[in-house]
Amino acid sequence: MAVLPIIIAPDPRLKTKSSPIETIDDSVKKLATDMLETMYFERGIGLAAVQVGVLKRLLVADVSWREEEGPGEQHILINPEIIENAPEETVYKEGCLSFPDQFAEVTRPASVRVRYTNLNGEQKEESFTGLLGTCIQHEIDHINGIVFVDHISLAKRDMIIRKLQKQKKQGMFDHVHGPNCNHDHHHHGHDHVHDENCDHDHRL
Ligand code: ZN
Repeated sequence: MAVLPIIIAPDPRLKTKSSPIETIDDSVKKLATDMLETMYFERGIGLAAVQVGVLKRLLVADVSWREEEGPGEQHILINPEIIENAPEETVYKEGCLSFPDQFAEVTRPASVRVRYTNLNGEQKEESFTGLLGTCIQHEIDHINGIVFVDHISLAKRDMIIRKLQKQKKQGMFDHVHGPNCNHDHHHHGHDHVHDENCDHDHRL
């Protein structure tokens, strides 16, 4: 198990479409495990492989984990594809581990039906709704080279990208945290672990 460094926007890889996974071998299983560990470590609720620099169609999500109780219901989706969108929409204030401290309201279908392959190589179909539905759509966007700020106004998007560009230039994200760091990992200030009842942000 390993905590992997996360790519921070702007980065051309975040705009790149990931390739399908042909064979589910040990390297895919290890990547999924490392991604879950990275996601918990960074206090996110979802992560796409591209965010750790692997351009493969793989995502992980767990919207029910809690600091005190550990992992909740883990979802690992290989080659996921949205096959149906609900007509109802939902608005959610989204964040992203690749966009530290940036949040914006995004409108998406309230639920989606997704076809994917699981780690055992089985084809599955599942509907995702609520926070998990939003999270899964956000991560599927990632593997298609789309980020949450692509859903907001150009002006707001530019503002966020410029801010991150400046922080990157100042070296704010140069240090990659690992389990052996002896300082504060939670530089994004998220001591609170979110749940479905929070009325504020989540990082996906
Ligand atoms: Zn994200």
